[in-house]
Amino acid sequence: MRDPEEELSELESAGLRRRLRRIESPQGRSVALTGTRECLNFSSNDYLGLANSEELKSLYQIHIGKLGAGSGASRLVCGTMAAHLELEEKLADLKNSPAALTFSSGFAAATGIIQALCGKDDFVILDKLCHASLIDGARLSGAAMRVYPHNDLERLASHLRWAETKRGRNSRVLVITESVFSMDGDLAPLAGICDLKDTHDSLLLVDEAHAFGVLGPQGRGLAASLGLEKRVDLQMGTFSKAAGLSGGYLCASRPLVDLMTNRARSFIYSTAPSPALAATIRDGLDLVCGTRGEELRTILFANRERFLSGTSSAIVPMILGDNHAALSASATLQDMGFLVPAIRYPTVPRGSARLRFTLSAAHYPDDIEALKKALAEVIPDRYDSNFAS
Ligand SMILES: *Cc1c(COP(=O)(O)O)cnc(C)c1O
Repeated sequence: MRDPEEELSELESAGLRRRLRRIESPQGRSVALTGTRECLNFSSNDYLGLANSEELKSLYQIHIGKLGAGSGASRLVCGTMAAHLELEEKLADLKNSPAALTFSSGFAAATGIIQALCGKDDFVILDKLCHASLIDGARLSGAAMRVYPHNDLERLASHLRWAETKRGRNSRVLVITESVFSMDGDLAPLAGICDLKDTHDSLLLVDEAHAFGVLGPQGRGLAASLGLEKRVDLQMGTFSKAAGLSGGYLCASRPLVDLMTNRARSFIYSTAPSPALAATIRDGLDLVCGTRGEELRTILFANRERFLSGTSSAIVPMILGDNHAALSASATLQDMGFLVPAIRYPTVPRGSARLRFTLSAAHYPDDIEALKKALAEVIPDRYDSNFAS
């Protein structure tokens, strides 16, 4: 049998071992790490700075008082409380979608949705850079799988033609992409993907995890910003990033949503999220999608522009290639008071280890200037090629 210690030391020498970092403070613009100084936080997905906001904290407290802490059972048994349904109605309304369903996490949403939709007679076609949850969903489904190079519409088209020659009369063909890619921060060519999936009579699932609360009118995401909400069959996302809480969602037609409550195993066989959480998300949507959200997005975009002009999301990668180089740059930055993660395989392809910077509305302009100054010192060549223009 393989020895786990040996396995760990192999990971260590490849620069691929991961360790938990203990944070002693709440999330925010800066965080306190054990044994080091306070660090400015350029690693969280709390894009609007809501995770530790007075607004969400007080909503959560009020709802715990009124609704209790736990939900007691799965949604289909007796865990569906008014707050869950109100959240789903409100989200569907907001997203101009016929129906919505929430999951305990974005990961659970992705795996549940794909496995519910597709089986061995079906076809799943994904962008190469899709998130692990989407890949796992596709694998779990047992469908025939094809991956197309990142954002490559021609290869997507050829995979769709391949599926067309193989599919039976009842087969589903499901195309999957993220809208904002989580480790690169670039955008999918959604209009082109919509055209292709329509031409080839297939369904489209778009994961808006990093776009919800960030892009589009009211922060509704990239599909909304491109006027494509109605053409995307399944829009999924998470409340764990810009919305500052946790939980996944799906917006889709009523029959597709009802199919999920019958077939999505991560939904059916998991205890419902706390009703207080559901109610806090429900009310928090007013913040994320209302005038407060607009103010925060304006600050976020100004911060993003200050860091690197012309970027299209709140995520900025700096690709260093080598795992050890990325780890060492990350460690040096941490010593200087900046928390920036080294992202490595299998989160990103081999040979493309990187620093991944995330901007937030919580950052002050000076924080970003300080980070740029540190980068110019720590990785001057990279800094020049990424930032000097
Ligand atoms: C974070 C993320 C998820 C998972 O969402 P959680 O709510 O954190 O489980 C799914 N898809 C993408 C693209 C993500 O970045």
